Amino acid sequence: MSGLGLAIGTGDSLLRPADHAHPRTAPARRGAHLGTASDGRVVDAVFQGASAWLANAEDGHEVVHDISVRIEGARIVEISRAPIVGGEMIDLSGHLLLPGLISGHTHVAGGSSTRGLIEGGRSYARPLAIVEESLDDDELDALTAFNLAELLRSGCTAQVEMSLSLRQARSYARVAQRLGARGWVGGMVPGIGRLFPVWFGTDADLAASEADTLEEIRQNLEFARSLRGDGLVQGMMTPHAADTQTPATLAAIADAARELGTGIHTHLSQGARETETVLRRHGRTPTQWLHEAGLMDGPFFGAHFTAPDWTVDPAILQQIGGIYATCPSAGGAGGDTQPFPEALAAGIAVNVGIDTHSNDMIENVKLAVLLGQARAALLSRIPDAPPHRAPTATDAVRGCTITAADALRRADLGRIEVGAAADLVAVNVSGMLVGSGAPPPEPLNNLLYASGRSVSWVLVDGRVQVADGSFVGADAEAIVAAGGDAARKIWTLLEAEGWFEA
Ligand SMILES: [Zn+2]
Repeated sequence: MSGLGLAIGTGDSLLRPADHAHPRTAPARRGAHLGTASDGRVVDAVFQGASAWLANAEDGHEVVHDISVRIEGARIVEISRAPIVGGEMIDLSGHLLLPGLISGHTHVAGGSSTRGLIEGGRSYARPLAIVEESLDDDELDALTAFNLAELLRSGCTAQVEMSLSLRQARSYARVAQRLGARGWVGGMVPGIGRLFPVWFGTDADLAASEADTLEEIRQNLEFARSLRGDGLVQGMMTPHAADTQTPATLAAIADAARELGTGIHTHLSQGARETETVLRRHGRTPTQWLHEAGLMDGPFFGAHFTAPDWTVDPAILQQIGGIYATCPSAGGAGGDTQPFPEALAAGIAVNVGIDTHSNDMIENVKLAVLLGQARAALLSRIPDAPPHRAPTATDAVRGCTITAADALRRADLGRIEVGAAADLVAVNVSGMLVGSGAPPPEPLNNLLYASGRSVSWVLVDGRVQVADGSFVGADAEAIVAAGGDAARKIWTLLEAEGWFEA
């Protein structure tokens, strides 16, 4: 992508939003749906007067006020500090305009099936297993649609998606294509139906699992090949973690990833047990072992990273341009924190991932920063703690936009530039509870008071998903009702097993 389609000066006005409305060339619209072509994309729309996140601005300012952005079809075609004439105008004064947010780690169908059940300390394992065992394809699609609509509603326009099985990956692909989300999807290997005996079993159990895992890899590769050519949903290899693979399965995954060219998405050193097991079996940390096996030759997303070797692993991730996806809701609301501060100090590129239980992208950006700051404060009181730096809202936003897009080798995503994809998120940062009644001078900080409900507009590839605060990408009521029916079935089955009493 070349430079921005505007000349950015260095005057004070960049640092302060206008204190009066700028002159308008046409009445601004709010609440109206934009005109769309037969492919569902906006014809000619202007988002006027936003504070925009321009990560590549020539003068180094990352948020520039009073920016207008014109979208035609799937692309941003004009960016200006002056009001843009023509097109259908949406007034975004008081809003922060961000590139579409990319979650580097999701298991979409698993979100609402565990939410509200696990926060007191129960395991997520059984509800997730029931999703796989007991829902038919229609019910699974209903669950996927509910969760994906939530992600879109909250500004998550793209998912690096490790569906919990190949069947769930197929469901994600069907639903994402229907709703118009952008994704890199694979079925977790081993899938959730085979995972736990392999993950928590002996070395002999792992060895015995090898043939079935190789077959799963073959089927996942075939599925990923079938997605080639579709612009928005692509296949990606998604091994569960280093401690559920053998040298042979890792080699097969590396071969498949090489063929697909979309890289690897995995859980990486997600606990001390994993790191110790891999060290014992292979004499290497999980990061070293995956690297040597060729899994880091392309894009690489590793989630959690709660027990790495800080002396050797960061250099590898830096060298290959890999992403650590930190997931503040990994255990549902509450629970342990993740090493966002240590990763920043170690120079690792960090994205904020959704993981499973909460699908509110703005909320998770906020939680990553707040929990990261709390963790950094506690670390600073511990002698011999690893080096750490408290994260800021800028770190989190950068990680979910340009950093993630670059790791995916997608120079057309994660930035607001002329020629970039029209994946955009507008967040109201001036209203009650989030702002101060006027466009704020440093709106990234206002994100720390916001949630997905503060999102006013979402576009993915030029298609409107959220308009004036409402999800319009599909029939929201029908999606919620069908998602609720699937959840009720899961709860009924759990109750029949006595799961709630256990
Ligand atoms: Zn996960």
